[in-house]
Amino acid sequence: MRLVLLGAPGAGKGTQAKLLIEKYNTPQISTGDLLRAAVAAESDLGKEAKSYMDRGDLVPDRVVLGMVKERIAHDDCLSGYILDGFPRNTAQAEALDGMLAEMDMALDAALSVDVPMEDLMKRLTGRRTCQKCGQMYNIYFSAPAEENKCDKCGSELYQRDDDREETITKRLEVYESQTAPLIEYYTGKGICRSVDGTGAIDEIFATVCETLGLD
Ligand code: AMP
Repeated sequence: MRLVLLGAPGAGKGTQAKLLIEKYNTPQISTGDLLRAAVAAESDLGKEAKSYMDRGDLVPDRVVLGMVKERIAHDDCLSGYILDGFPRNTAQAEALDGMLAEMDMALDAALSVDVPMEDLMKRLTGRRTCQKCGQMYNIYFSAPAEENKCDKCGSELYQRDDDREETITKRLEVYESQTAPLIEYYTGKGICRSVDGTGAIDEIFATVCETLGLD
């Protein structure tokens, strides 16, 4: 399955992607995660990306496209993958189509996870992630048993630099103006599906699987 996950920041794309990976053993390619790893490693690419990310802007297409092209050529992607946070604008979507055509491949679906704008701010400002195992929490909706500690592995939780209020507003604006039009782009190709991203995570996941025709 070659799947694009669409949805505003905080819609729960990453959470649903992680559940799909656990169940179907498909690699998740999150450009946000790849960029954060580059920033942490202080590579040239990471240094360039950081200023855009801190402002809530998109990193230039050429940086992201190079990363994705390299990643989808790996052997573990032969039977499919989940693209999480990519493409983010029409130019990236067209470039992805071009890359796939070169490999004689096509996307199976683009799935939009829909959450009302008014819910997203709380989801994003409350988001915390375990620095060791990546487990995600929300201090408003799904807080860990002990403050700031991961229930699974006991490590400390952190808040992403770009999950602060001023950056979030910008990221939501960027989503509306640049990424939301992709729903129409993939609808035009006949492969766009959508699910309601509000409610319990496991119920959303059941709908995701059903919508994608997965057992
Ligand atoms: P995310 O974790 O997907 O919310 O991404 C965090 C930040 O990384 C975004 O606000 C952008 O600055 C950058 N980013 C992630 N994916 C992309 C992409 N496909 N194109 C451009 N910038 C991206």
